[in-house]
Amino acid sequence: MQRQKSYLNENPTLYLVATPIGNLKELSERAINVLKEVDYIACEDTRDARILLEHFHIETRVLAYHNFNEINSSDGLIDLLCKGNDIALISDAGYPLISDPGYLIVQKAIAMSFNVVTISGPSAGLHALVASGLDARHYLYYGFLNERAAKAKNELINLKTFPYTLIFYEAPHRIKNTLKMLYEVFGDRKFCLARELTKIHEEYIRGTLKEALQLDDLRGEIVLVVEGYKKDTDVVDYGQINTQIEALIKEGMSSKDAIKKVSKETGLAKNDVYRHYLDSHKIC
Ligand code: SAM
Repeated sequence: MQRQKSYLNENPTLYLVATPIGNLKELSERAINVLKEVDYIACEDTRDARILLEHFHIETRVLAYHNFNEINSSDGLIDLLCKGNDIALISDAGYPLISDPGYLIVQKAIAMSFNVVTISGPSAGLHALVASGLDARHYLYYGFLNERAAKAKNELINLKTFPYTLIFYEAPHRIKNTLKMLYEVFGDRKFCLARELTKIHEEYIRGTLKEALQLDDLRGEIVLVVEGYKKDTDVVDYGQINTQIEALIKEGMSSKDAIKKVSKETGLAKNDVYRHYLDSHKIC
């Protein structure tokens, strides 16, 4: 066990400073002061960081701290902390560590009993959640799904019965497929897509996943908030499931294999899929 009284000791400190996700006015006075007072600022992209720092007349020395070079970079930062320097870690936007680098340096700094202190600010996921209209009492921040569609689908299958609101980050070029996959795996649940938060083109789109299939041309930075699983009310759209089965049969798959594949992909029980498929083919 370890106890850290951040402001009652003289230990060097690693500050985790949240920075704006669009609107620069969201950088707090406290964050500006910390960024001015530390010995070094470690950041993902030194050019991006300089734009922010110049805006606030912050002249602190800047160091690169990359995801792909986290082991070496974190050792370098630990060296600086050992020499008595205070360091602020920032990411390109929002909180460091939240779908951004920083986990390793935080672990190492804690292991060496340096202070690790967060300086609050915006984070896209929370920003979207509270205005989504979905239940914000309990939620899971998931971040990005895997870039490979098959792996992403498996991740969704694992989340299918998670009972609380889910928060995803997504890139604009993948959002259409992700919405389609969400509908296929989760059925027709409520969602809120939050785009370009805090910027001039900020937009919230609220509706159901089935409606989301009509969305086109979604640009900019995107957070997707999706309703959690509800045992009594989650309605599976078996019409859509049957269409998927029929499409596979048309491609030459046997009905048995098509049912097996669609059950696996949607996370639904094979017997249920089979029963509904048979029902839809009963001749009255
Ligand atoms: N560390 C950041 C945070 O605390 O939110 C997240 C960084 S992650 C690399 C970048 C992703 O965050 C974007 O692809 C998008 O999904 C989301 N994001 C960041 N800024 C956003 C904004 N202004 N509006 C909507 N989503 C945003």
